[in-house]
Amino acid sequence: MWPTQTNQLGHMSKKVLVLGAGFAGLSAACHLAARGFEVTILEKNDSPGGRARQFSAQGFVFDMGPSWYWMPDVFEQFFAHFGKKVSDYYELERLDPSYTVYFGPGDRMDVPAGTAALEELFERHEPGSRDNLRKFLREAEYKYRVGMQDFVQKPSHSIWEFADWRIAASLFRLQMFTSLSKHVRGLFSNERLLQLLEFPVLFLGATPQNTPALYSLMNYADMALGTWYPKGGMYKIVEGMVALARELGVSIELNQEVRHIAVEGRQARRVVTTSGREYTADVVVGAADYHHVETQLLDPAHRSYSETYWQSRTMAPSSLIFYLGLNKRLDGLLHHNLFFDEDFGQHAIDIYDRPRWPEKPLFYVSAPSITDPTVAPEGCENLFILIPIAPGLDDTPALREHYYNLVMQRLARVTGQRVGEAVVYRRTYALSDFVNDYHAFKGNAYGLANTLLQTAFLKPKLKSRRVDNLFYTGQLTVPGPGVPPSLISGEVVAREICKLN
Ligand SMILES: Cc1cc2nc3c(=O)[nH]c(=O)nc-3n(C[C@H](O)[C@H](O)[C@H](O)COP(=O)(O)OP(=O)(O)OC[C@H]3O[C@@H](n4cnc5c(N)ncnc54)[C@H](O)[C@@H]3O)c2cc1C
Repeated sequence: MWPTQTNQLGHMSKKVLVLGAGFAGLSAACHLAARGFEVTILEKNDSPGGRARQFSAQGFVFDMGPSWYWMPDVFEQFFAHFGKKVSDYYELERLDPSYTVYFGPGDRMDVPAGTAALEELFERHEPGSRDNLRKFLREAEYKYRVGMQDFVQKPSHSIWEFADWRIAASLFRLQMFTSLSKHVRGLFSNERLLQLLEFPVLFLGATPQNTPALYSLMNYADMALGTWYPKGGMYKIVEGMVALARELGVSIELNQEVRHIAVEGRQARRVVTTSGREYTADVVVGAADYHHVETQLLDPAHRSYSETYWQSRTMAPSSLIFYLGLNKRLDGLLHHNLFFDEDFGQHAIDIYDRPRWPEKPLFYVSAPSITDPTVAPEGCENLFILIPIAPGLDDTPALREHYYNLVMQRLARVTGQRVGEAVVYRRTYALSDFVNDYHAFKGNAYGLANTLLQTAFLKPKLKSRRVDNLFYTGQLTVPGPGVPPSLISGEVVAREICKLN
């Protein structure tokens, strides 16, 4: 736990401004407030949570972004820093099956929660694969432990942080230099099992061919640690963190969009919002999209990176999302459903290699009303449908409509029931919404991709090179995209700020 006796730490009265109330900003704010800083969060939108906001319409309650609650230990550790437990703020339920994968009409694979049932599933699809699954998960567990204890906790200022003997010795065991795709293909041959093992890294924003096999730690998170659901929805995490932040004395100011960070010498002195308000600061933390803070809020002389640098980054995908309310329940869906009834490889090419709107996209459907009656009126279904797409594409109403019709047809065909006619509420969300709502670079949904060349010290740094009291946190810096990494990012940056005298 971090100490909270502020007056012993010498940070009392130091003012920190955190720009953005997403998970990373909230996490940084909590950690800094607990260390005695006077913390104010300035948030552009009218509610906290960033990409994980929630909205209600016609009796339906929609989580706008994340829906997979993985790595429950990271959330537990976050609250434990402050002497709290997850259960002080929300109630978790483990999903079993964890999720299902549809390969075609009436053809699906439910992925069970327990290891024994999982081994049976593997044996059914690939006789003799049980031992390799055990081996794979043993290695993945090692990567998870080392990765989450050592790697992600590093500020990643330089390569030398990774030169201590324990990490250096483990680099090969961690499989930093082989791809996830190669790794799983060395152990399994059944195409469906391969898809199952390769899908979690899509969360990291790169193809399995371009993702280090280190990230089979995601498979450990998926298959061993499980898929959980906070009752009431993912927004319960945000509410919990906001309640904690307030308990720790953090002030959260909504509808305060920052438009400029004024720098004198090498110090950020003032932050100005679009409403004309000015805030002074001893330390500024950019917890909004890194590219936005750098290129829109700072004068050119104070930027660490050039536009050429940003243009050459591989961004994680954007998404086309449909939030739907149905006036009936659907048959056969689980809470999490992956529609892999089209070619996985081709869709990946359309996202990463030749960015364009995919002809035959895979898509994901979350139906939280299967687990949680509070998110839809009685007898109704709440659907969140997501198609991953390349960042930076054109975004028009006609394109959105085209994909809506396509997804409705596929959903009906694959699950064998009429869906479209039951839709009583629809909201569409895509690239331009990410830009308008979050200032997302190229409309990205998940930040910067975790490719080998954008891992750890090769990511945009969490400390500005030109402004001594300006720091960054969130999914475009270390350790990367996802809710658990964002919580860790806030902790790591807070630790760095505490090193300032
Ligand atoms: C559709 C979608 C699905 C996802 N699914 C999952 C999932 O299932 N599981 C998972 O773990 N992760 C998932 N993720 C990723 C996860 O949600 C993100 O990695 C995480 O929420 C990022 O948090 P952040 O704090 O870095 O950024 P953000 O949440 O974007 O927070 C940044 C904040 O800064 C604010 N801001 C921007 N500009 C300004 C300004 N000028 N002034 C003031 N404030 C500003 C924004 O409004 C925002 O509130 C998903 C993301 C999306 C979009």
